[in-house]
Amino acid sequence: MLSVKDLHVVVNGKEILTGLNLEIKPGEIHALMGPNGSGKSTLSKVLAGREEYVVTEGSVTYKGQDLLALAPEVRAQQGIFMAFQYPVEIPGVNNTYFLQMALNAIRKARGEAELNSLAFMRLVRDKLKALEMDESLLKRYVNAGFSGGEMKRNEILQMTLLEPSLAILDETDSGLDIDALKIVARGVNTLRSPERAMLVITHYQRLLDYIEPDVVHVLSGGKIVMSGDKSLALELEAKGYGWVQDGLEQAA
Ligand code: ADP
Ligand code: MG
Ligand code: MG
Repeated sequence: MLSVKDLHVVVNGKEILTGLNLEIKPGEIHALMGPNGSGKSTLSKVLAGREEYVVTEGSVTYKGQDLLALAPEVRAQQGIFMAFQYPVEIPGVNNTYFLQMALNAIRKARGEAELNSLAFMRLVRDKLKALEMDESLLKRYVNAGFSGGEMKRNEILQMTLLEPSLAILDETDSGLDIDALKIVARGVNTLRSPERAMLVITHYQRLLDYIEPDVVHVLSGGKIVMSGDKSLALELEAKGYGWVQDGLEQAA
């Protein structure tokens, strides 16, 4: 599904990713952890195609194609969903309208028929029910004045509507309460399927109390320095990131 090889990325003249390798197969959920400033969000932005993040070396392959050669909107059409730490507000645009447009653009790219408002509302109500959410967010403007928890709900609703092949969630390092974490987890767990892969980026182990990742990676100094199963996340929580750093220094 996703293959990142020896990725080097420069932001503002500074090398932030320094040879990152990551392989994600269909059906897998990977968690990417690491201290603040280690480059987690930089990776998600490169995968999204943000142009200020310059790839100087390495490759990213998605479903066998060179991902870096695809325009950001084409990446989305090809089934990549990206949830950012700080979602964009679009005052004046009704959320139902926005979600319907987003879904129909993707459906069109997949060669599927567009949904009319009635069919869309039926679908959105099913998804809301599965996520145990109410309809109140639909009537609001996109993210305008949303609380952290409401933004999360909206993002997860968007993700479950779009049914991506590869979902990349870059979680805030703080400020999410347990309810919001549970919503994210419910979204991820609902979408888990043999054809779909997910990369969950998080600073804290807490989120992984509700999501069972197949693989946990630790990013440090711009590359993945340790990978393991979910027990690695618990070990990190107990011992802190300093433990990884000390281990690397001893090995060097
Ligand atoms: P993380 O998500 O792991 O906390 P980031 O990827 O956000 O880390 O940041 C990694 C490093 O890159 C930090 O030193 C940060 O200041 C820098 N950085 C990231 N984005 C930018 C940017 N747009 N301009 C300048 N520096 C950036
Ligand atoms: Mg950060
Ligand atoms: Mg970050």
